[in-house]
Amino acid sequence: MFQLSLFFKSDQRSLKHQFQYQLPDQDYYGDPIIFGEPAEVQAKFFKVQEKIFLDLEVNFSFEMKCARCLELIRQEKSVNKSFQLIAENQQQDLTEQDHEEDVIHYEKDQIDLEGIVHEQVLLEIPIKVVCDENCNGICSQCGNLRDDGNCNCDEAATEEETDPRLAKLKDWYQE
Ligand SMILES: [Zn+2]
Ligand SMILES: [Zn+2]
Repeated sequence: MFQLSLFFKSDQRSLKHQFQYQLPDQDYYGDPIIFGEPAEVQAKFFKVQEKIFLDLEVNFSFEMKCARCLELIRQEKSVNKSFQLIAENQQQDLTEQDHEEDVIHYEKDQIDLEGIVHEQVLLEIPIKVVCDENCNGICSQCGNLRDDGNCNCDEAATEEETDPRLAKLKDWYQE
């Protein structure tokens, strides 16, 4: 938990806090997401009149499998997000510019900064990645990678994604 009491009481207009946060590896739709290095976090709290805001910048990397060939690939990402901090006991009507999803509710002058970083990082993880747009993945016939020369299957025969109407047409020509 990150303590904000001193900042709230002080005349200070802003407060910077820099830290690293190590995310645990995740199981993501049955495949691993590996966070080798800790995320680099820069948090800046600032006051605008009566309101408190947080600018968050998170830089992180992770490894996940290519959706086609299953090779582990490393990705780097950066998240920049701003939040408004609102005390749990404080009945505050959100103005039109305030969006509920960008609000952090806090209690006892402390916020779960690591929890927020964790959540923001997971939101940035794509459902699928490919190592290369041209990656041909694994052959459904022989189980070898199509690109490494071990697959000699007939390209046409392995093509599962062929439009069924075209497949019919092909049968017709072969007769
Ligand atoms: Zn691949
Ligand atoms: Zn093959």
